[in-house]
Amino acid sequence: MKTLHLTTSKEDIEKAAKIIREGGLVAFPTETVYGLGANAFDEEAVANVYKAKGRPSDNPMIVHIARASDIGQLTRMLSPEIVELIDNFWPGPLTLVVKKKPEVPDRTTGGLDTVAVRLPESQAAIDLINAACCPIAAPSANLSGSPSPTRAKDVIADMDGRIDAIIQGDDCRVGIESTVVDMTGDVPTILRPGIITAEAIEAAIGKEVKYDESLTEASKHVQLDPAAGVAEADFQPKSPGMKYKHYAPKADMLIVEGNREKVKQEIERLKGMNEQIGNKVGVILFEERAFIEAAHDFFAQLRDLDSEGVDLILAGALSDKDGVGFAVMNRMLKSAGYKIARV
Ligand code: AMP
Ligand code: MG
Repeated sequence: MKTLHLTTSKEDIEKAAKIIREGGLVAFPTETVYGLGANAFDEEAVANVYKAKGRPSDNPMIVHIARASDIGQLTRMLSPEIVELIDNFWPGPLTLVVKKKPEVPDRTTGGLDTVAVRLPESQAAIDLINAACCPIAAPSANLSGSPSPTRAKDVIADMDGRIDAIIQGDDCRVGIESTVVDMTGDVPTILRPGIITAEAIEAAIGKEVKYDESLTEASKHVQLDPAAGVAEADFQPKSPGMKYKHYAPKADMLIVEGNREKVKQEIERLKGMNEQIGNKVGVILFEERAFIEAAHDFFAQLRDLDSEGVDLILAGALSDKDGVGFAVMNRMLKSAGYKIARV
């Protein structure tokens, strides 16, 4: 398939919208990561998104809308808390999981009776949804398992020849995917952390929110014995959900966690040792509290190191006491297959 390369000009957005209306697939920029969009109400188009990504069909998609009132096409009731979150955070990187209307196809929601909805802030995304005149279901525009695309060239690397068109816009402002919060239970529950933190959500609704167990479970698994040091790098995850390859670079990857100075030293030591045996080593090390920059750069750095053909990536852990740090660590741990060394 020949993939059309488009810009964010009015004419090109119109072309892309026509493709969506006719059941085709278009990758487009958002402020989080690039999305791979299809008409959310077109089951066949949505099925093709799964095919293009090589994604398991039980993993539901986020439905993107262009104005808050369009959530009415997807759900019957907005609770006061949902309204509060919409008022505070839309447009922006917060996805709300709500009860779905029967009209929303099962394919879009992976067979669930809930639907994930977001109003993005990126102008190109809003223009595309408006021109298409339908909500757009869109997962990230990468091959399933590889790092999310935050730049047009990343989308081209994964999706050229597999989809109808790619809108090439700016690099994504945020760089990690949206916060996903499930609003269907008694307590709002964060299913995926992002730059809109649990504290910010709590402040908006005046009520405690919780993290889904799978998120906290994952960090428990990596509480390794500090005395064990790098020997624990062979650590294997215990829970099956953590086995999925996600955001994985082609290189092997190891996270080094601990006191800042020691982390730097250990990364240098491991780099030297691995280079001595002929391996090409890349390092990802952000400033200690530069959480927003880390979110912005993390996936791009993974992809750049892969392009350079490194064998091993050594990454310095960020503090997960900070909400954004926690969100970046969620991706870093998955990328490294939960391999972590404490120093
Ligand atoms: P991605 O499409 O790659 O941005 O991923 C979308 C994320 O939203 C995935 O982690 C999905 O599991 C999650 N998601 C989408 N719809 C739902 C839903 N109805 N209930 C729970 N999680 C959802
Ligand atoms: Mg994704």
